Amino acid sequence: MTRTDDPFIILGVSAEASREEVQRAYRRLAMFWHPDRNPSPIAGNEFKRIHAAYELLRDPQRLAESRQAQTSGATASDTAAEGGGADLVLAMILTLEEAASGCRKNVELIDSVRCRTCAGSGRVQHDHLVPCPACSGCGRVSRASGRTSRCDICAGRGYLRETACTDCRGSGRQQALRTLAVTVPPGLLDGERLRLTRQAPRPPGGEEAVAGDLYLEIRFAAHALFVVQGRDLHCRVPVSVFRRLAGGRVEVPTLTGSVSFALPPWAQHTGEHRLPGYGYPGKRAGAAGDLVVHLQSIDPHVGPDDIELLEGLEGLEGRLAAALERRAPQLAAWELQMRARRQEASG
Ligand SMILES: [Zn+2]
Ligand SMILES: [Zn+2]
Repeated sequence: MTRTDDPFIILGVSAEASREEVQRAYRRLAMFWHPDRNPSPIAGNEFKRIHAAYELLRDPQRLAESRQAQTSGATASDTAAEGGGADLVLAMILTLEEAASGCRKNVELIDSVRCRTCAGSGRVQHDHLVPCPACSGCGRVSRASGRTSRCDICAGRGYLRETACTDCRGSGRQQALRTLAVTVPPGLLDGERLRLTRQAPRPPGGEEAVAGDLYLEIRFAAHALFVVQGRDLHCRVPVSVFRRLAGGRVEVPTLTGSVSFALPPWAQHTGEHRLPGYGYPGKRAGAAGDLVVHLQSIDPHVGPDDIELLEGLEGLEGRLAAALERRAPQLAAWELQMRARRQEASG
């Protein structure tokens, strides 16, 4: 399993998360990424990815397997060709926050290292003579012809003081986990690569070759609040229909906290509100992107008190006929028609 498929990362929960935590994370993300609710072009795919991850974690058997497959850091996607010296690209999944501010990560690689049993010699010395493994100590081996002949390994002696190391099968190298501490600079974007010179693992048997370069390809984990486009962060923020009509300050999340902006009153449409410089940070001294707020108008449950207030507003509209003409011509025309009908009926 590569980290890009890691269901825990996709759902943003730890490998120790309970079933309830997994379910909560899934509901929250699925709600956010549902293509019917989220206009982002990547919403459909994200929704499917989240659903697949959840399905995987719902099955106790597969959940146990996934937990076992957990390693820290990143694992291979794989471009290593046969033979030594090949470069390798690994996917490195970061949260938006980690990538934005930069971070330190441990990357674990399976690499070929010197065998500890034989210190890389491939041979093991014994204190006493041991039976030759090829002829089991008899000094002769059977041949394809059906005859037996002298064992070449022990030169017919049957016993040896030195044998091939069984741990590395005489190669002097073993496959083992190597941990690399990596510093990720701030502001890298999804798909950008970090190059670690001569850090690619060598394939078994390729020990003598110079190691290739290791590339860590940054991948952003799905975020509960933000969708990244370039360096712009898009965010959907629910506001009540009253706030939308009255205007005022609306608080919105940023990668490091929150910020508020002035919403003009009587906002006719929810639209986009751009907050320059509050998006994903630039590299080095580069400019940050924008935070693009998509307001989602929510109709709250209306209680008796609200109705009284709303009736007051409605009456006010009626009394201010001139204002109504200007602000809602359709309503003003309707009022006129109704008044004419009332007069007809009474007259
Ligand atoms: Zn060995
Ligand atoms: Zn032998």
